[in-house]
Amino acid sequence: MNPTTDAARTEQLVTTMTERMTTLTRTLSTWMHEQEHSLAELEHPVVRLLKELGTSLRTGLAQLAVPAEPPRSIPCSCGQAAVYQRERPAQVTTLLGPIHIQRSYYRCAACGVGQHPLDAHLQICAGSRSQALDELLALLGATQDSFVQAAQVLERLTLVHVSANSVREATEQLGALLLEHPAQPHSERPASPPRPASAPASPSRLYITMDGVLAHLHERGWSEVKVGCCDHTQARQDRKRPERLDIRAHSSSYVRALEEAQTFGWRLWQEAVRRGVLSSDEVVVLGAGAHGIWNIAERHFPRAIQIVDW
Ligand SMILES: [Zn+2]
Repeated sequence: MNPTTDAARTEQLVTTMTERMTTLTRTLSTWMHEQEHSLAELEHPVVRLLKELGTSLRTGLAQLAVPAEPPRSIPCSCGQAAVYQRERPAQVTTLLGPIHIQRSYYRCAACGVGQHPLDAHLQICAGSRSQALDELLALLGATQDSFVQAAQVLERLTLVHVSANSVREATEQLGALLLEHPAQPHSERPASPPRPASAPASPSRLYITMDGVLAHLHERGWSEVKVGCCDHTQARQDRKRPERLDIRAHSSSYVRALEEAQTFGWRLWQEAVRRGVLSSDEVVVLGAGAHGIWNIAERHFPRAIQIVDW
């Protein structure tokens, strides 16, 4: 059967999915009859098989977006026509695991540019991850102790395997997006002074310092005000004592907050990313001996040189 209409293709998908569900139910029923199984024993295989069913459904639905008979040519951005070449496979990793899609490939003889119209339609590209998966990866990347751990938690939750690098990518993409569209400051807070522009692509060394001070506040009583700072330094010869180097901090930017250490840590990390911590050759964290400071340093700036009480 070679279905050519949308209705026929939908019917074929319905038939395929129904057959799969029937097979699945029969297989599990036989398994239950063969010997006694607890609900817990049943849980994993059922979840895994339902995921496989979901992957088939997702793939089938995506394939419905492919025209039954691809047009022989489509417009190219250069003004000429791109001609149909062949079907090409693409893999996209989703919350249901990897799905494989066949899509039509067109090439323009005039400008040599190739295109897959389905990619634009489904907002995918070969080897990409779905938006829903990326959101979950970023959430785990931002809340787990490491990207490796985030990938492990994802696999336990969804049975989908991704690399720690994928978690890092998704988390950094979200971080970049947050920096582009920061949350509006609380209306009662005074407007922040303008902050220095983002650091150049690869500042050689970034200093990060943080501390807390107890202040007695109206209504709140004694509370710790936390302050973090990112800066660079510049060395100059001391005019009076030329044998000495005079080292000064410059381009300092600050974050300050009345909040718990964990939230403050993320706020400081966000500022450090804005200041180029991910591309710095060297990162130095300076602070007093308080545990809170070094927990933040270990978690957010694990490769930093740590200097206690300079
Ligand atoms: Zn063209």
